[in-house]
Amino acid sequence: MTTAPARIVGLRCRACGRGAPLGPTHVCELCFGPLEVAYDYTEVAPLATRAAIEAGPTSMWRYRMLLPYEAEEAPVSLGEGLTPLVHAERLGEQLGLRRLYLKNDSQNPTNSFKDRVVSVAASWARQQGFQVLACASTGNLANAVAAYAARSGLRGLVVIPDDLEPGKVAPTAVFDPVMVRVRGTYDDVNRLCSELADRMPWGFCNINLRPFYSEGSKTLTFETCEQLGWRMPDEIVIPVASGCQFVKHAKALDELRQLELVEPGRPPRLTGAQARGCAPVATAFERGETHIVPVREPRTVARSIAIGNPSDGSDVVRLARASGGVVTAVEEEEILEGIELLARTEGIFTETAGGVTVAVLARLARQGRWSRDATVVAYITGHGLKTVGALEGRTRVPEPIPARLRAVLAADPGGLLEAGQPAARRAAG
Ligand SMILES: *Cc1c(COP(=O)(O)O)cnc(C)c1O
Ligand SMILES: [Zn+2]
Repeated sequence: MTTAPARIVGLRCRACGRGAPLGPTHVCELCFGPLEVAYDYTEVAPLATRAAIEAGPTSMWRYRMLLPYEAEEAPVSLGEGLTPLVHAERLGEQLGLRRLYLKNDSQNPTNSFKDRVVSVAASWARQQGFQVLACASTGNLANAVAAYAARSGLRGLVVIPDDLEPGKVAPTAVFDPVMVRVRGTYDDVNRLCSELADRMPWGFCNINLRPFYSEGSKTLTFETCEQLGWRMPDEIVIPVASGCQFVKHAKALDELRQLELVEPGRPPRLTGAQARGCAPVATAFERGETHIVPVREPRTVARSIAIGNPSDGSDVVRLARASGGVVTAVEEEEILEGIELLARTEGIFTETAGGVTVAVLARLARQGRWSRDATVVAYITGHGLKTVGALEGRTRVPEPIPARLRAVLAADPGGLLEAGQPAARRAAG
């Protein structure tokens, strides 16, 4: 183990505060709470200035001083992060929000938010001498692990449930990882991988490397505030699977405030989005409890966030409540409508998890949760091309016609001719 630089203190239990040495371990020996990377912010502060960050790389690694990687060697990167923050004017108009923004994380190298976390995990694992980069995955994580393993020269090992969407399997297989398909749910896969991680000297991104992996999530919130002119929004809508990223967005906001990187103000409400077909966190929130009752058989098209037994679920409930946010679940039809609404108003095609986020956003907006001038940001975490099957039977594809002008005019596609638009063009020209 290399000696840790001064800015990284070690690992610390989020539940009881007990410290642990920096290493590939993620559970507190005392209370089984989750271990997190702890920093000495007096060491971080001189490095974390707006000027230094803005002059940094055009990737999430401009926030390197707040990530657990400190080596001569460049991190394992495919240019992840610094994704567009889109001012959603047309969607905002429909929802009565003048300051609605979408953080479009589908624009990452493997088209999901997971590239942020895997870039950190792969960098740390390679530096520590691991040879295998592994994960238990609902799809997007496998995709990212396979790509970053190829990029770093580590061997990739991805363990997935056997019924994943084809749109997630093929783009993973192309990177040639070792792929293990398991008959069972994601929670079965995760349990199996925990047993493997105990026995084998492999780096599992979301198990023994979790403290390092999860830190990468913070960059999504760092960038959002930077792109808002170093201001915090009033509310952020975040999809919740294990709850890992939700918890880290709260940590990111604490760090931005503590380091005085953002203008002072009330920290945002953090709101979680789940699919009703697998909503253990929303259910606990609605009952006013923090205890999570696992969902044994998730039933939703939003596969990438269908985790029945979410490890950080209790903390999500606690943080949502403390911030003034909510955790809400939406029905299957709303999820598909959410995908379509986003596509038709903003030109952004998101996967089913993004459909969940947009559906929660739309439902809360229509219930009058926000004033017209509230700054609301929704995190769009994955690309629609990975889950095209979910829209089967909903997208209109016309019958083909001959390549003749007469045929086009006769078909009058979409009633464009009747609306008289070609004539209007001619008159204007
Ligand atoms: C993994 C994932 C999330 C959130 O995951 P957490 O386990 O809650 O951190 C959200 N959206 C997409 C598309 C994902 O792949
Ligand atoms: Zn503890």
